[in-house]
Order: sequence, then C-alpha cells, then structure tokens
Amino acid sequence: MRLAAVYYDGRNAKAHPVTLCLEGDKLLLQGKEIVRRDAISALEIQPPLGSTPRVVLFADGARCEVADNRGFAELFPGADSRVAVLENSWRWSGLALLLVLALAGAGYLWGLPYAAQRLAQRIPAELAASLDREVLADLDGKVFQTSRLSPDRRRGLEARVAELVLPDPAGRPGAIEFRFSAELGPNAFALPGGTVVVLDALVELAEDDQEIVAVLLHEMGHVAGRHALRQMLQASAVGLAMAWYIGDFSNMLAAAPALMLEARYSRDFERDADRFAAEALQANAIPPGRLADMLLKLETARQRGLDAKLGAGSDYLSSHPTSEERIQRLRSQ
Ligand SMILES: [Zn+2]
Repeated sequence: MRLAAVYYDGRNAKAHPVTLCLEGDKLLLQGKEIVRRDAISALEIQPPLGSTPRVVLFADGARCEVADNRGFAELFPGADSRVAVLENSWRWSGLALLLVLALAGAGYLWGLPYAAQRLAQRIPAELAASLDREVLADLDGKVFQTSRLSPDRRRGLEARVAELVLPDPAGRPGAIEFRFSAELGPNAFALPGGTVVVLDALVELAEDDQEIVAVLLHEMGHVAGRHALRQMLQASAVGLAMAWYIGDFSNMLAAAPALMLEARYSRDFERDADRFAAEALQANAIPPGRLADMLLKLETARQRGLDAKLGAGSDYLSSHPTSEERIQRLRSQ
C-alpha cells in the first residue's frame, strides 16, 4: 500500500509530494528526485492530534505529514497505541482527568483509612501506651490539671469499670486517668494507646454512676476499634504530606497533642462506639438509654453556650450533628 504524504527535508520550507510504503522494517519514501529508506524504529511518529495530519519525524530533522489518518493507521498499525487513541480525544482526556480525581478522592476516603486501620493493628501495645504517656505529659499543666475528685471516688469508678463485662476484651482501657480541665468541660477521651481520660466535670454532670459508665463504655468502643490511633495515623499521613509540601515538619510535631483533643471521629467510628456501648450496657444490665440520657445532658451543656469557652474540640460536643440520630438509635435498643 502506498500513502500520499508531504515531505519537508528539514533544510528549507519547500513541501515535496511523496508516497510512503513499507519495505520490511523500513519505511520507503519516494518523490520526485527523493528516495529515502529509514528503519521504522528510528522514526518518531507523533501521537494523533484531532484530525490534523499525522506527522513522522526523521532522525535528521526531516519530517513528513500524512493527511489520510485512516491510511496512516493502516500503514503503521502499531503506532496508534490505545493510549495515543485515547489521548486523541478531548472527551477521553476529560474522562481521564475525572478518573484521576476520583481515584485520588477514593484513595483519600478509603485507601488512607484502610491503611491506617491495618497499621493501627500492627502497632505494638507498649508503643501505643508510651504514646499515651507522652500525650498526657504534654497536656498536663496546659489543658489538664490534677483531678479534684477524691481518691476514693476515682478508685470506686476504676473498680466499677474493671468489673464490667465487655463484648470485646480489646475495649478494656489500658488505664483510666482522671483530670480536671477548666477549658474542656464535661468530657472523656480515648487516647491512641487505649488510655481513657475522664474529666471531673463529666463525673459531676452525671446523675449516677450508670451514666458515667455509659459514656466510658462509648469511649471503650473507641478503644476496641483503635479509633484514636487510626485517626491519628490518618491525620499524620495528611500532615506529613502537607509538611513535605510546605517543607516544615516542626509545626506538625508540635501540633500532635493538640490534634488529639481536636479529633473529630467519623460518623462510622461514633456508630461503632455507640454499638459497642449499647451491647456492653445490655450485658451489664444497664439500659442503653442511659447513654442517650447522658448525650442529651452533654448536648444541653453545649447549647448553654458553655462550649464556646470550653473549646470545641471534644468528642461528644463536636459530633453534635449526629447526636440526635445517635440518641434515637440508643433509645430504640
Ligand atoms: Zn465518640
């Protein structure tokens, strides 16, 4: 097969009408007073660009253009790889861009949480526990002060928690730490290593120990799912990427303990922790509605505007939008 083409020798702008055909692994180009044979492997075939003529570049700077796109594709069947054909279409380019964005989004939404989950399972308990000690050491004296609850009261609550029947032993906290915080108000936190921090105001807000236990069981649900650790790993992966981009790691490291307090668990984590709490409450003959009672109380405390100065970073208070849904679900158990 012979294909009509226009040849430019690379030395001047004159266009020479020529024909192209294949001779084994060579391209034979013939025109008036022009004959050249070039190994196909030495040619650069430019990817198609819409319906503009196809361009073949020669090693010596010469070029030729083929207007017959279809004929060109027949002459060089290997040249139009699928990638080239896809590149050719703006529509495909747009789709490819969307796909890349979707993949990046999926990676962020699912890949990162999945990686964090897998990693959280592999972090040794001692390492996670030492992380808790560091977080506490950093927060003590800043946002946390020594608990003002009597030692008896604290020991009593610890004993109460120790004797609870749990649906999953992994929810058993490594330690329970009582603290006073003027800033954070009624609250409890699960730290990455499984320590549960209980603030005095939470104990004082509760009508009885059942309500305290209900909230602690919710936190123990976070411990069982290693939610704080997963959250921290995810945040630090994003933080690392940002630090790498900005080139500043010191800020990220300094922000780690504060990050703990600002942890806003996903709805899924909250739901899991509520489910754990509801199961455990039933197993310990406490109505799951007691957790709902306590959530309402925390909600009311929040609505009183206390949290404006108490800080917005707390587990219960910041999950506010889902509170009603959570209360409904707990009440229906
Ligand atoms: Zn929670």
